[in-house]
Amino acid sequence: MNNSDEILIEIKDLKKYFPIKNNFIENKKKVVKAVDGVSLQIRKGETFGLVGESGCGKSTLGRSITRLYDITSGDIFFQGDNIAKLNKKDMKAYYRKMQIIFQDPYSSLNPNMNVEELIDEPLALYTNLTKKERIEKIQHLLEMVGLKKDDMEKFPYEFSGGQRQRIGIARAISIEPEFILCDEPISALDVSIQAQVVNMLEDLQEKLGLTYLFVAHDLSMVRHISDRIGVMYLGKIVEIAKSNDLYNKPLHPYTKGLLSAIPVTDPKKARETQIEIIKGDIPSPIDIPTGCRFHTRCPYATEKCKSIEPEMKEVNSEHFVACHLY
Ligand code: SF4
Repeated sequence: MNNSDEILIEIKDLKKYFPIKNNFIENKKKVVKAVDGVSLQIRKGETFGLVGESGCGKSTLGRSITRLYDITSGDIFFQGDNIAKLNKKDMKAYYRKMQIIFQDPYSSLNPNMNVEELIDEPLALYTNLTKKERIEKIQHLLEMVGLKKDDMEKFPYEFSGGQRQRIGIARAISIEPEFILCDEPISALDVSIQAQVVNMLEDLQEKLGLTYLFVAHDLSMVRHISDRIGVMYLGKIVEIAKSNDLYNKPLHPYTKGLLSAIPVTDPKKARETQIEIIKGDIPSPIDIPTGCRFHTRCPYATEKCKSIEPEMKEVNSEHFVACHLY
């Protein structure tokens, strides 16, 4: 768990809109508002969890922060430097500090490269190590992620899904980044393997002083790994709190709905749990509802909710929510 107050990343009013193309012609009037004005801070050494339904914009937000996507507007401060508008050349120094672990290690690892080549690629690009030093480093990295030196000669298809994710993690930590975007890193893995990978990420965080943005739709795993959690709905963050506060005292009706969808194994607890399943589908990010964007699905919506967008407020210590009920 992280006790630092130092801010590693701060984003302000970040927007990422995608143009819509019909027959390859851009429709200038219609855009997909995948991220629509998000502000948040990520502290050094913490794991910030980002949750929400599929299509809420959480992966786009992560990829915008790491500048895998060019953003539409807003600011991204990394260690105090605004990197929002830097070109690819100027971003090189920051790409080294920000790495990504992808959901599907099979498609993110080049199938024609063996493990040695895969891990050597970022080392050769971003460090001045000699070939001999890089080989030693690769062997050490493989041990750190629970693989063997002999695995260096093998290709991705020769490994299981969990092992491939370990290769992806070794590659991500190889150049000693400060920050790692974990973009649904366990969603494609067997349930039996998920906890092993999460435990390894926690160990590496402690050893290497890493900061994580952990994007996931599995709320129970996010709770386990995160210090704080942001809940995202239709391109906006609607609630941010410390992990335990969010799970024990959720405030936003959407968060309550998400949590009530987690299966509860204890029958006593199941009886006590307030069931608030969210009705209907998430609206289109091309046509976002007016006012509170959750009003079309919220059981507490009033006339005010339909026309006035709620501001984010700190309701309890470090517990922020955007809802007119508070
Ligand atoms: Fe529901 Fe209104 Fe709160 Fe939105 S602002 S979550 S519609 S009560």
